[in-house]
Amino acid sequence: MHEFAVVSTLLETVLGLAEGQGATEVLEVHLRVGKLRALPVEEMKQVYNLLAKGTMLESSTLIVEETGAVVHCPRCGYGPSLEVKSQGADHSAILQLLCPRCGSVLDIQGGDECVITRVRMRISSAEGLEEKMAVTLHPII
Ligand SMILES: [Zn+2]
Repeated sequence: MHEFAVVSTLLETVLGLAEGQGATEVLEVHLRVGKLRALPVEEMKQVYNLLAKGTMLESSTLIVEETGAVVHCPRCGYGPSLEVKSQGADHSAILQLLCPRCGSVLDIQGGDECVITRVRMRISSAEGLEEKMAVTLHPII
């Protein structure tokens, strides 16, 4: 249940951000997830809806943008893209990727992130309720 831990951290982080902005309700949460994370997006959305119940994120939508792997082989120059197998049961395996051409350890330059990129929320101000898009780059875990 790796996605459970990620989603609960995500919710805590967004709640903290929203409270800091004086939000009354969160409408959208945009998350950028690298393919190397091997996170199951559909399962994450289900866990999200489950854990958001009873919080100000209850009626918000989780929008996940997946990004591909960006690698570079220091020995033979292989890269920058790498085909990532979607079935990644062993999450620690992503920490050391081997070059498919020469077997050296690849430098990972992208595709291993898990970042909140935007949060759309409703904020009550002197003028009444207003919507605000907070642009953040907030890494999770
Ligand atoms: Zn290589």
